[in-house]
Amino acid sequence: MKAHIVGGGFAGLAAAALLIRNADMSGPDITIYEADEKLGGGFFLAGNAKSGYNLPGSIFDRHFHCALDLLGKIPTQAYANINVAEQFLTFNKEHPFVDQTHVVDRNLHRIHDQRYGLNLGDGLRLAKLSLTREASLDGQLIKDWFSPRFFTTEFWLLWSTMMGSLPQHTIIEFRRYLNRFVYLFPDLSSMANVLRSQFNQHQAFVEPLVAWLERNQVNFLKGAFVSDIAFAGSPGRMTVNRLEYERGGASMSVDIAANDIVLVTTGSQAADLSAGTMDTPPGPPPNPGRSWALWRKLAARHKGFGNPDAFFGDDRIADSRWVTFTVTTTGSEFLDEITNLTHSDPGSGGLLTLKDSNWVISLSIFEQPEVLSQPPGTFVWWGYGLLPEKAGNVLPRDNQGENPRQSG
Ligand SMILES: Cc1cc2nc3c(=O)[nH]c(=O)nc-3n(C[C@H](O)[C@H](O)[C@H](O)COP(=O)(O)OP(=O)(O)OC[C@H]3O[C@@H](n4cnc5c(N)ncnc54)[C@H](O)[C@@H]3O)c2cc1C
Repeated sequence: MKAHIVGGGFAGLAAAALLIRNADMSGPDITIYEADEKLGGGFFLAGNAKSGYNLPGSIFDRHFHCALDLLGKIPTQAYANINVAEQFLTFNKEHPFVDQTHVVDRNLHRIHDQRYGLNLGDGLRLAKLSLTREASLDGQLIKDWFSPRFFTTEFWLLWSTMMGSLPQHTIIEFRRYLNRFVYLFPDLSSMANVLRSQFNQHQAFVEPLVAWLERNQVNFLKGAFVSDIAFAGSPGRMTVNRLEYERGGASMSVDIAANDIVLVTTGSQAADLSAGTMDTPPGPPPNPGRSWALWRKLAARHKGFGNPDAFFGDDRIADSRWVTFTVTTTGSEFLDEITNLTHSDPGSGGLLTLKDSNWVISLSIFEQPEVLSQPPGTFVWWGYGLLPEKAGNVLPRDNQGENPRQSG
């Protein structure tokens, strides 16, 4: 029996590790096909101290039980006798978030309302949503469920910036997050129960996992884009019999035996990612639509594969585009100012949301170093805009992106 895993993001890597650990498969029988030249998908790390790093945030959750169970068996790269989950949990125990200043207004005054500005009606509405069956919410949006006042509360600001929610997103997604993270409610402002990796997630999670898989002789096919999956026609059952992929400009295919396993990652949060630099705005994505292409093809042929159009396409871009920025500095002036403002040391403050910025910008000031090879005296922090489709405060929309030094 062989396993073919499409996608070398965290899910694909985890699937390979679990097949070895829990299903006694041998590494050489497992192949991971990754369209990119790098593994890790959304847990990426790019750039360097000179040109500036590019990385996502590093929030993780104490109730990501499956991930922590898996990482509990993966040794860290620095210490063979310490596993990744242990390092992660110890770090968080010793360095908890105690966000003193989560939201500031245009005058840099701290904003914090009693009960996050929610009234009894909002509380009842949230409780009702939590208890409503998902099936009866189909087609409804967050803005259909709550009053306009709800979207002016501190609760909505905290929640939407942490979870990436917009009023025009579906209420079903909101409800899933609500029920999944309800235990965070008392600490939304201080983020006391939110955990994060000690350094970027690529080096904290992906690299040790890949090293473990390599030691187990898993096959990695990087730069291999799986373009199609063929099925054997048997009544009432679909069985994959061939994978087709493109690699190095050549089209290839691999036959799949009846008892082989094929696991596919469909779509991606980092789909169509395009990175700018200090002086150049992000260009069009290098491989537009690639993360969705296979799913789209499968869904067009077989109804059971769902509806990818609910998640991507031109109509979805405005509601799902995310603009993030990683800042690399050679002096600590900015971080010192932020510490003075927030009274939280780097790494202990969670998020700082600039409520009156048109993009609703949030900053995440990491514990340093965020990148293991980061030279001393270099500082890395991260931020994102919840509403990047809006004109920024500094430049009108038409001029944004011409010079990234001035945008936003
Ligand atoms: C800016 C940003 C910030 C984030 N911050 C956090 C955070 O703080 N905490 C957190 O937990 N999560 C965060 N996330 C989310 C996190 O990155 C994802 O949840 C996670 O990476 C998903 O892993 P995955 O393997 O399911 O998918 P992905 O990481 O998207 O991996 C899918 C992989 O499959 C490959 N692929 C797709 N189609 C094909 C094909 N046909 N053939 C071959 N390969 C294919 C893609 O190239 C990709 O590498 C963030 C994401 C982004 C973009």
